[in-house]
Amino acid sequence: MSIQSENVSKLYGEQKAVNDVSFTIHSGEIVGFLGPNGAGKSTMMKMITCFLPPNSGKVTVCGYDTVENSMEVRRKVGYLPEHNPLYLDMYVKEYLSFCGRIYKIDRLEQRVMEMIDRVGLGLEQHKQIGALSKGYRQRVGLAQALIHDPEVLILDEPTSGLDPNQLVEIRALITDIGKEKTVMLSTHIMQEVEAICNRALIINRGTLVADKPVSELRNGMDGAGYTLEVEFSDAVSETDLSNLPHVGSVRNVRSNTWLLEVQSDADIRKDVSEFAVQSGTFVLGLQRKEKSLEDVFKELTASR
Ligand code: ADP
Repeated sequence: MSIQSENVSKLYGEQKAVNDVSFTIHSGEIVGFLGPNGAGKSTMMKMITCFLPPNSGKVTVCGYDTVENSMEVRRKVGYLPEHNPLYLDMYVKEYLSFCGRIYKIDRLEQRVMEMIDRVGLGLEQHKQIGALSKGYRQRVGLAQALIHDPEVLILDEPTSGLDPNQLVEIRALITDIGKEKTVMLSTHIMQEVEAICNRALIINRGTLVADKPVSELRNGMDGAGYTLEVEFSDAVSETDLSNLPHVGSVRNVRSNTWLLEVQSDADIRKDVSEFAVQSGTFVLGLQRKEKSLEDVFKELTASR
């Protein structure tokens, strides 16, 4: 396995930023680390990359302890920190050579050119970093993180602040890099995880609240179920509606339109039609709504 966190906690003074967090990331996975601002994502990532020691618990990367074997961990990990700290007055090649020298890389010039090619910086390679767009600066950040050919990449909010085109390009690049590396990326955007990741870890107020394949996330906390939107031609009784089989709660969204929370995967459309007839009304519209990932995220991170 590539990354293992065992009962890790981190305090800033009195404040617990990460609280007893355990997870495992296997080699070759692209895992999304999701949570609202202040949830503890950056703190967890700083512990994985040896920038902060945990107060309790243990983090290992490729089997190496981040506290006891930090030099080995640093060799195994590439890190793109939040806000991508770059030297804006340096030139792209100059900066990447500078980063490569830290790792004492052989044939550095060749390696820098490989990285420029890998992240699509060919046309910008002679520019000063300060002259690059945000999207290209992120490419420089990714090249920096990859320069020593690490097995694991830790990317802290790699797409924040990008415009929609840059976003698509950087996501595609990360997906491509993910074919060769284990990637953990943090974000507060649910769609990002859906677009790039196989698995999601969701953290809220320092505590891990979900660890699931992205395909299973939609089931959220409640397991099976879906929402049915029904429009009747006339008013109906809320109590009678909520007594329909499999229906948990009902909510009136506008005049005669209701949202029914169905608590199983049963098809209740016939029951709804019969209910309409008995109530002396007609069904004008019926639409099944899957839970959006955004809803699941809200459900999981609602204050608790
Ligand atoms: P995220 O990356 O999910 O936005 P962080 O890990 O940055 O969250 O922060 C987690 C919590 O720890 C927040 O409440 C934040 O205010 C607090 N925190 C982060 N860094 C520090 C610090 N250097 N000193 C004190 N508190 C901090």
